[in-house]
Formats: sequence, structure tokens, C-alpha cells
Amino acid sequence: MARKHTARCACGAVQFEFDTDPTFIAVCHCLDCKKASGGEAATFFGVPADDFTLTSGTPKAFRYIAESGKSLYRNFCPDCAARVFTDRLETFPGMVFVMIGSLDDPSPIQPILEMFTKRRLDWVKPLDLPQFESMPS
Ligand SMILES: [Zn+2]
Ligand SMILES: [Zn+2]
Repeated sequence: MARKHTARCACGAVQFEFDTDPTFIAVCHCLDCKKASGGEAATFFGVPADDFTLTSGTPKAFRYIAESGKSLYRNFCPDCAARVFTDRLETFPGMVFVMIGSLDDPSPIQPILEMFTKRRLDWVKPLDLPQFESMPS
């Protein structure tokens, strides 16, 4: 039986699911998120790795060194190139960060903060949420 939350890439080759209702949901305006998403910001949330099950496909993982000097792996579908999750973060061991757009039903999940607002472009208005210039501490 499918778990509570199901997700997939744009073409459906990569699919995964989890039960955890996320509590850390961030809109991140950092340069890395801009480059990796191709947009102004990325919205993602943390799920414990032991609750995360890949049910279809094999994402391609790209190892990346963040500004902090710590490594992480951005995972995307090798067929449609949709970025779906980030894992093996040195800074958050045991967590997988899921891109909100990959969810089959993203509507119940809403951000709780904005971060790296120092990189937010001028035309984007702040949301009515706690604002952090860089990483929340
Ligand atoms: Zn795909
Ligand atoms: Zn970011």
C-alpha cells in the first residue's frame, strides 16, 4: 500500500514515498538553489531517511559542495532531468530533503520560513513568515 505522501519526477520514471508529515519546510533563495532549480528559489522539506522509500526508477545523484564546504547529493531523473530530492548531506545526516514540486499532492505542505533572503531578488516579495538572511540557526 502506498504511504501517506507520494512523489514523482516530471516523467514518472522516478517515484518515492514517505509517511512523515514534514515540519521543516523552507523557501531558500541561495545561489545554489537558484542554479540547481533554475528558478529564483527552491522550496523543500526534510524527511527522515529511514522513512524514505524509492519505489521506482534510479535517480542520478550529483555530488555537490555547498558554500559551507560540506557535501550533499542532488538527485534528479536521468530521463526528464527533474530535480526530486537531496540526500547524504554532511550537515544533516539521516535526512532527505524533498523538493515540494515532486509531490503528487503538495497542497497540505506549506513553508514555515524563508532563508538566504540576502540572495532574494528585488522583485520577490517576502512571505509572511520568519525571515533568515542565511541559514536559520
Ligand atoms: Zn523523469
Ligand atoms: Zn538554498
